Amino acid sequence: MPTVRLIAALVLSALAATACGKDGSPPTKGPAAGKLPEYRVATGFQLPESGTWRKAKSRGRFIVGAKEDQPYLGEKDPATGTYSGFDIEIAKMISASLGLDPRRIEFRTIASANRETALQNGQIDYYVGTYTINDNRKKLVGFGGPYYMAGQGLLVRHDEEDIKGPQDLDGKRVCSAAGSTPFQRIQQDYPKATLVAYDTYSVCVDNLLTYQVDAVTTDDAILIGYAAKVPDELKVVGKPFSEEPYGIGVPRSDNALRFAVDDALAAREKNGDWQKAYDATLGLSGVPAPKPPAIDRYPAN
Ligand code: GLU
Repeated sequence: MPTVRLIAALVLSALAATACGKDGSPPTKGPAAGKLPEYRVATGFQLPESGTWRKAKSRGRFIVGAKEDQPYLGEKDPATGTYSGFDIEIAKMISASLGLDPRRIEFRTIASANRETALQNGQIDYYVGTYTINDNRKKLVGFGGPYYMAGQGLLVRHDEEDIKGPQDLDGKRVCSAAGSTPFQRIQQDYPKATLVAYDTYSVCVDNLLTYQVDAVTTDDAILIGYAAKVPDELKVVGKPFSEEPYGIGVPRSDNALRFAVDDALAAREKNGDWQKAYDATLGLSGVPAPKPPAIDRYPAN
């Protein structure tokens, strides 16, 4: 066991070095600023029906909830505090379409289990962070989008041979984030797995590297990023076993904001910004840009 811990410690320090952008490390820190699209800020845009928009407008910026430890999607540079990734780009393009400078967005890290509360109590204006749209959550918040379709997968250590799919999880220790759809799916559909929950997937990955758990489960888009950081240690196995349409979370009663977010997204898909944002972020994982899923503009609540 001491050797295993030593290896794990080395791997973790390699992760830290990668986060500092060491030459030769995989491009997981986020894209070079010059490669990112510039989103033109809409001039004269007005959305007085939206209380959220009015507050943001008078404050001069949106406050956006996000993740800070999900490579290619939402990552915070510990040195500068800057957020980057595909979700962050989605947040920026929406801000620009809604007439507020994306460079002024104040990002706040909110864990999976706390998203609904953060939107309900006005802590954030909207949320972009691998947030699956589903009917249960729609009772609590509104969703613009979807802007991307992910699917649940499994991350294991590189030398793992027993786990190839969710059917192999009986008696295995499986880690996921509290309050997430992948956690719920394992609980319901694979009750013989021993579930371990943390606030974040990065803590699950640390536990996987130190042999505290046998697998990490969440969306494939998230797992690919962790595997890319330490490809010699980790691998994603099997086929995706769910559909996770990513939405932009908004306060449930603010239909005006939700429709404006849908319009913004549709326009950014049409003008090529969505594709450029994908290529500069999640596309670095090696998966070419898919066609964005159809936007579900469901009726006002
Ligand atoms: N997309 C899933 C969810 O919303 C998993 C990723 C996450 O926890 O953000 O629960």
